[in-house]
Amino acid sequence: MLKVDNLVKNYDAAGLKVGALRGLSLCFRKSEFVAVVGPSGCGKTTLLNILGGLDHYTDGDLVIGGKSTKDFNSHDWDVYRNHRIGFIFQSYNLIPHQNILSNVELSLTIAGLTKKERIKKAKEALERVGLGGKEKKFPNQLSGGQCQRVAIARALVNEPDILLADEPTGALDSVTSVQIMDLIKEISKDKLVIMVTHNDELAKQYATRIVSLRDGQLVNDTNPFSVKEEEVEVKSNSMDLGEKEKASMSLFTAFKLSGKNLWSKAKRTSLVVVAASIGIVGVAMVLSVSNGVQGYIASQQDDMLSGNPIQIAESGLDLSSLTENISNPTKTSIIKESTEDGKINVNFMIEEFVARTKDATNYIFSNSIDENYVRFLEDMDRDAYAAMNIAYGLDVTNNIYTDMKVYELEGDKVVEKTRTYSVAATTELLKSMLSVSPEVEKYRDMVNTFATPFYQALDNKDYVLNQYDYVTHDGSTAVFPEAEDEMMLVLNKKDKVSDFVLAMLGYYSQEEFTNLVYHFMNENGMGTEATKLPADFKPKTAFDVEELVGKEFTWYPNDTIFDSTKLHYFSMGSTGGAILGADAYRYEVTDPSLFPNGKKLKIKSIITPKSSVQYGSLKTGFYYTKAFAEKFVEQGLNSQIVKLMKDNNIDTIQSGKLPGAGTNLGLSYKYRYVFQGEQKEGTGYLGSGNMMSSMAGMFGGSGSGISLTSLSLSNLGGNSIPTAITIYPNNFETKSKVTKYLDQWNSDEDITLKDGTVLLASDRQEIKYSDNLEVIISMINKMIQMVTYALIGFTALSLVVSTVMIGIITYVSVIERIKEIGVIRALGGRKKDVSRLFNAETAIIGLISGIFGIGVTYLLSFLANIVVGSLTGVYSIASLPPVTALIVIAVVILLTLISGLIPASMAARKDPVVALRTE
Ligand code: ADP
Ligand code: MG
Repeated sequence: MLKVDNLVKNYDAAGLKVGALRGLSLCFRKSEFVAVVGPSGCGKTTLLNILGGLDHYTDGDLVIGGKSTKDFNSHDWDVYRNHRIGFIFQSYNLIPHQNILSNVELSLTIAGLTKKERIKKAKEALERVGLGGKEKKFPNQLSGGQCQRVAIARALVNEPDILLADEPTGALDSVTSVQIMDLIKEISKDKLVIMVTHNDELAKQYATRIVSLRDGQLVNDTNPFSVKEEEVEVKSNSMDLGEKEKASMSLFTAFKLSGKNLWSKAKRTSLVVVAASIGIVGVAMVLSVSNGVQGYIASQQDDMLSGNPIQIAESGLDLSSLTENISNPTKTSIIKESTEDGKINVNFMIEEFVARTKDATNYIFSNSIDENYVRFLEDMDRDAYAAMNIAYGLDVTNNIYTDMKVYELEGDKVVEKTRTYSVAATTELLKSMLSVSPEVEKYRDMVNTFATPFYQALDNKDYVLNQYDYVTHDGSTAVFPEAEDEMMLVLNKKDKVSDFVLAMLGYYSQEEFTNLVYHFMNENGMGTEATKLPADFKPKTAFDVEELVGKEFTWYPNDTIFDSTKLHYFSMGSTGGAILGADAYRYEVTDPSLFPNGKKLKIKSIITPKSSVQYGSLKTGFYYTKAFAEKFVEQGLNSQIVKLMKDNNIDTIQSGKLPGAGTNLGLSYKYRYVFQGEQKEGTGYLGSGNMMSSMAGMFGGSGSGISLTSLSLSNLGGNSIPTAITIYPNNFETKSKVTKYLDQWNSDEDITLKDGTVLLASDRQEIKYSDNLEVIISMINKMIQMVTYALIGFTALSLVVSTVMIGIITYVSVIERIKEIGVIRALGGRKKDVSRLFNAETAIIGLISGIFGIGVTYLLSFLANIVVGSLTGVYSIASLPPVTALIVIAVVILLTLISGLIPASMAARKDPVVALRTE
């Protein structure tokens, strides 16, 4: 049934041809016990390996069941080994990290049997070799004889026709050797057993036939097999390799084997996992933080939007073209830089100057908002925005009056009296208190530039109350102001209002305010004799709700506060004209008969930003209603002062005192006050100073004399066309609806309003709006992206290092498991099974590393959020989306698989003979 015909096997050893077998011809019976004997190096093992299909011959033929193996492909060999051959090795070749049951199961596993069948057969086989009940033991817990019994059980379990044993007792003592030989003899009854041995006695005692080899050639055969016999046998037992028979290891088995191997080296595996996960944690952490920050920004967008609404103002800074220009500077050179040799070249500063001016004018835009534009805005889909604030540029401080406690002299005694001043006048008075030292005086003009007491409230109650909570106080119910005589106080995030605002509105008496100034001067080492305060002085740092709400404010129309008989137009010839009116402004309510048509204003509620709100749509201060603003414009348009200005084409009244000029220009008024025990007189100018001139005053020092203020028609309520419109979109997503609508105005198409009016494109002037949030958010996101890419680039390096390391570890593993590779191949495992084994190993490492790394990342993210959260109140700075986590794990598995490909294919290509010979 098994025949070698003129078999030749040559080895190539270091370039020298070694003839291991030189034309050997032998026939074996279906069932006999053949001992192959001969001196070391005569080719016994080589013969056995070739018979077992483990090694391939150079020439001649191996005939199995009458079939030549010349055309066998590797699959045929695999099936042959798995189903027909059982191998027993001198050194047992058990897989150390598998228990003996699994060791025995292995060839059944390769054969593709079910688990149930495998366990049943493996247990039977172990029982047969006398190891019943020891299934769970590991090879290193057994004696040599027991190990060889396991090996025999493994060889038997597949019920092979041929048992090949290469010096099975070579490593055993004589007593054990006899036991093993008995076992082999017993199980060989209906099989062909071919045993290599150098022990002639054992051969004589057990074998039915002894074949002696020398130098790769047959020298003696005690029981040769005749050709006739062979023919008969071929007929009776055709050794057909059935098509259905397979020899392949399932992927699951590969994972199980590798998993067990990794588990048996748990320490090393965990070190590899930790090392590999460093890169993973790096990359995942960057992704986590990047996602967290972007998520945070997204979550803040709506909040930020309420603090950065879309604005259409008379003039503004075009932030988007500014940032664009900063990121891509374009320098146009009109004259190419001149570098004429031997001459002195001119450095053109003019060019620089012109270019900068051009840039600056590009960034600053001015809009002329007209009635049509307001109608266009009013037509906007109401769902697109939460609130639209139409501001008329009012300065209500001249018209609103309130009580203030001021110093007065009675004889030479300083007493405190309550007077009713306009807010503009209390502001002037307070500024006079800041004349206490030249250093402080420098800053006094900034008070009303930077502290604005009154704003116009948004008319969308729900929108505001979404961001703000009422500060409630006993007995009163909070009401959102809507009527023209209602006001509201908005606190900042820390529930505070500024001292200047409170002082301007008369909440601090003159004494309290003066003392505050003295106190802070002393605190900052600027105190003088004049600023001395009692040692136990304590500044008033808090107010009761009742105190704030209870205060009375009254507003009067322009015709009440201006004595029209004192206002007159003054022509200045070619330079234009001005409205003059010294003491035309009644800054103090003295005689009630002079103050008709007053209307009381009540503070209806105090609101404070919700803790979740970072920005909020309202600034800190006192708010009047839209109804009040409209009423104010109505009276303004009809007032004498506005008519006088319009009649004389004056848009703005400039007031103030120019350096050197003796007389006061514009609208000024004299007020008397007591300061440091002395009666003084000050001059107040109506209108507000602009930021530049108050800064100039600061740098110019006191007495520089430039104090110009301006009061425009708009300030007086004399303009029904808004100066600024602020649109608060509902949220960031619907914001584009608003901008799309606004863009329509600047398009080439005619616009038809709801009432049918057609606004021709040619009649419309471009009106720019500023959407600063869009610019800021896109800039931030771009930056986050850039930083993320850079960081991932860096951290990916460590991932590459990890990958290479896993490749090396796999290579080491291949070297370590070389015996296992040999055994698997000897048991009929395919090359593919071996590479699968190592790919499974790298995949497992990749998977564990990935999961571990992601786990660490989630832990770090959690900790980072706690730390950052406790520091900043932002609790989602790091968050790794589960999908990203899965992708990272998949990428890691892919990378480790790639890194293991070379070692794995190296393992697959290992010659099983060499693998088994390796010690
Ligand atoms: P035995 O088992 O009888 O001791 P072997 O079959 O192992 O002898 O070896 C026969 C001859 O072939 C020896 O000379 C040995 O050195 C040589 N040989 C065996 N395997 C290889 C190999 N893989 N490469 C080179 N030479 C080999
Ligand atoms: Mg040998």
